[in-house]
Amino acid sequence: MKPPAFDYSRPTSTREAVNVLAELGEDGNVLAGGQSLLPLLNMRLAAPRNLVDINAVTELDYLRVTPDGVRVGALSRHSALERSDDAARVQPLLRQAVRLVAHATIRNRGTTVGSIVHADPSGEMTAVLSLLGGSVRVAGSAGERTVPAEDFFLGPLESAVRPGELAVEAFFPARTPGSGSSFTEISRRHGDYAVCGVGAVVELDADLRVCGARAAFLSISPTPLVLDLAEVVHGRSFDDTAIEELSAYVQARIDPQPDIHATAAYRSHLAGALTLRAVREAARAAADLERTV
Ligand SMILES: Cc1cc2nc3c(=O)[nH]c(=O)nc-3n(C[C@H](O)[C@H](O)[C@H](O)COP(=O)(O)OP(=O)(O)OC[C@H]3O[C@@H](n4cnc5c(N)ncnc54)[C@H](O)[C@@H]3O)c2cc1C
Repeated sequence: MKPPAFDYSRPTSTREAVNVLAELGEDGNVLAGGQSLLPLLNMRLAAPRNLVDINAVTELDYLRVTPDGVRVGALSRHSALERSDDAARVQPLLRQAVRLVAHATIRNRGTTVGSIVHADPSGEMTAVLSLLGGSVRVAGSAGERTVPAEDFFLGPLESAVRPGELAVEAFFPARTPGSGSSFTEISRRHGDYAVCGVGAVVELDADLRVCGARAAFLSISPTPLVLDLAEVVHGRSFDDTAIEELSAYVQARIDPQPDIHATAAYRSHLAGALTLRAVREAARAAADLERTV
């Protein structure tokens, strides 16, 4: 399959990219890693008139790790985040999740920011941004704005980035003291999009009892869904969180849809079972981290 004809520009700075995109407005589309956009073009499911290729904007190829969190530039590939020991130390959930994105070859090319802007309900990093309460910095002709995760995902494949704008950076807050995380999912074949996935963050008090717990779900709702689970597991010991009430609590609050990969009932079952697993692993990770401090 060949894509429909398009005009092509290759800016070399953020400013130039923003200017080109602002000029093109509705007619311009950013090309980052191309791992989602190029299949859409080749299958002729999208036909943008102009592609603005940001692969030469090398100033956006960065990971900045500070005690408050990890900043991921728009040209940083999934694989860079996966390999960064500094990023994994400051926020372990990043590596736990990004290693589950597709295959290594796709992670070598696909960008984390591109994946977030693409807003696929099955995307791991959209769930992570939502679970951690991160944000995305967006630049346009009128200047920059920072959009919190809760306002960023508008629908399936629809984000708050408007025509003519460039998402320049995603910010993932650091792990808080006493907390641990886990990310787990089920896919039909290794590297496929998950039929269901769950990321969890659990916070423990000084006695290693749960004082906070929340989970994010993928392939369950049109936009990333985050549930607060604290009322179900609050006060339980870190090694005693995998309780059946947790599954029932989750299943009562989700409305998964059937598709060719899974029935709604199977997805609901997976969401409950994977929540137990993710919460148990996150609680153990929190306890392990506390013991090594
Ligand atoms: C076989 C296969 C399996 C995959 N499996 C998974 C999976 O399991 N989980 C998962 O999360 N992803 C998966 N992906 C998608 C992959 O993660 C892509 O990297 C990601 O969706 C998009 O990143 P990209 O850099 O390739 O963006 P592109 O494909 O270049 O762009 C995607 C969209 O985002 C827009 N965009 C990109 N960057 C910006 C920006 N900085 N500012 C504004 N708009 C922007 C583009 O205009 C386009 O509309 C898979 C892809 C393939 C081909």
